[in-house]
Amino acid sequence: MKIGFIGLGIMGKPMVRNLLKAGHNVIVYDVVKANVDLMVEAGAEARDSSKAIAEECNTIITMLPNSPHVKTVIMGENGVLEGAKEGTIIIDMSSIAPLASQEVYAACAEKGIKLLDAPVSGGEPKAIDGTLSIMVGGDEDVFNQVYDILMTMGSSAVYCGSIGSGNTTKLANQVIVAVNIAALSEALMLAVKAGVDPNKVFAAIKGGLAGSTVMNAKAPMILDRNFNPGFRIDLHIKDLNNALETGHATGAPMLLTSAVQEMLETLHFDGCGSDDHSAIVKYYEKLANTIVS
Ligand code: NAD
Repeated sequence: MKIGFIGLGIMGKPMVRNLLKAGHNVIVYDVVKANVDLMVEAGAEARDSSKAIAEECNTIITMLPNSPHVKTVIMGENGVLEGAKEGTIIIDMSSIAPLASQEVYAACAEKGIKLLDAPVSGGEPKAIDGTLSIMVGGDEDVFNQVYDILMTMGSSAVYCGSIGSGNTTKLANQVIVAVNIAALSEALMLAVKAGVDPNKVFAAIKGGLAGSTVMNAKAPMILDRNFNPGFRIDLHIKDLNNALETGHATGAPMLLTSAVQEMLETLHFDGCGSDDHSAIVKYYEKLANTIVS
């Protein structure tokens, strides 16, 4: 099948590789030419705009940083809507604000084009393995039509409800991950200050109730002082901003999220925006003037 793919960053590149591996003909576009060249080497074809992709492909996947990028690529000049035919399905796999998904869905609907919001969890390693968790909003019959394509990139694809539901689910995921990393950082600092080796603490508690996928992924990074992303602090700031905005719009109390957001903002202005989000521990390290290792 011919699939258009726009946005070839940390996540988009391995997702394209998995679509190619599954035998699809993938046509790609990104504003960064080096990313496009890598995908052409891997077997994809390239076009020079989102519009050109849409003129050829009935199924188009986008994997972009945030809401403004998705709006530009789909609704902007030389964008998907300028080239797409009625019946085209756009699967936006970026993590964006649910309200933005609803806005783009409405613009697509005017032209008879279908949009799903289908953000992912799992990060680069799971994008490479093709084992992402995919959470999907939009029309259920459209979800059923593209289920097999989603499963070439993920190990699960769950239909969550109407348009925006995928991104609301993703925001819930991002709140849980951020608060978990902050709790882990606080707890490991407590251990160090109280004179217990944090490596022993991790080894002792990871199999108990406090253990989690987040702990297993992030504690080793903290203890090795390896803050290479992974998932960048700046992207998590974007997600928590979207979560706070959604909380404010709907009346959901966001106390813990706003506390962690303040930590992330401080780290951003301290030059750590491109670090992995496990670098939340650095916030505690500055306060306590002590390194966790
Ligand atoms: P990234 O910044 O590495 O990649 C985004 C790509 O989009 C870049 O190659 C950029 O050049 C391209 N782009 C931006 N504007 C464009 C435009 N107008 N036209 C064409 N291309 C354009 O980001 P990423 O890490 O791949 O993340 C993509 C999305 O997936 C984000 O919403 C992120 O929150 C989400 N996500 C990331 C991870 C992760 O671990 N990196 C995990 C889960 C979800």
